[in-house]
Amino acid sequence: MNCPYCGHIDSKVIDSRDVNDGIRRRRQCLECGSRFTTYERLQPASLFVIKKDSRREEYDRDKLLNGVRKACEKRPLEAGAVESLVDDIETGLFQMGRTEVPTATIGDMVMARLKKLDHIAYIRFASVYREFEDITTLKEEVDTLADNMTFHSADQLPLIPPDEMTTIVKSPRRSRR
Ligand SMILES: [Zn+2]
Repeated sequence: MNCPYCGHIDSKVIDSRDVNDGIRRRRQCLECGSRFTTYERLQPASLFVIKKDSRREEYDRDKLLNGVRKACEKRPLEAGAVESLVDDIETGLFQMGRTEVPTATIGDMVMARLKKLDHIAYIRFASVYREFEDITTLKEEVDTLADNMTFHSADQLPLIPPDEMTTIVKSPRRSRR
């Protein structure tokens, strides 16, 4: 990095410290002695998502955020819960060190986290994401949840209120009549 005052190419680091998402370096120009600061941040490698029809698409944080937000709509979640869920997934994705990842992998990561966070949001996401083959599959999923619930403490959010269940059951493409 050239000195912003005289343009000289060499500087020495006089102080270096970790900041939130990178390193802050205080530098001094070897030519004119001026001091300036640089920040170093990790640039995430680009990640591609392989869709069901095997098309590749660059990973899009906003898209993921919107999907999760939609599932969490009107749920009593803490502010920032959705963002930190997505942050957590991104960290996981980048740690895998792969350049491409199937949509299903991301979907599973979302579901695993939503399952712990909020059961309604989980079911909503799962019903859209997995496009449940039929009501039976969805029912199995709900039953599994219900079984798991038995062992959880009472501070869990309620499972599925009757009206919510009706909405879910009516919405899949192939509903039974
Ligand atoms: Zn200089």
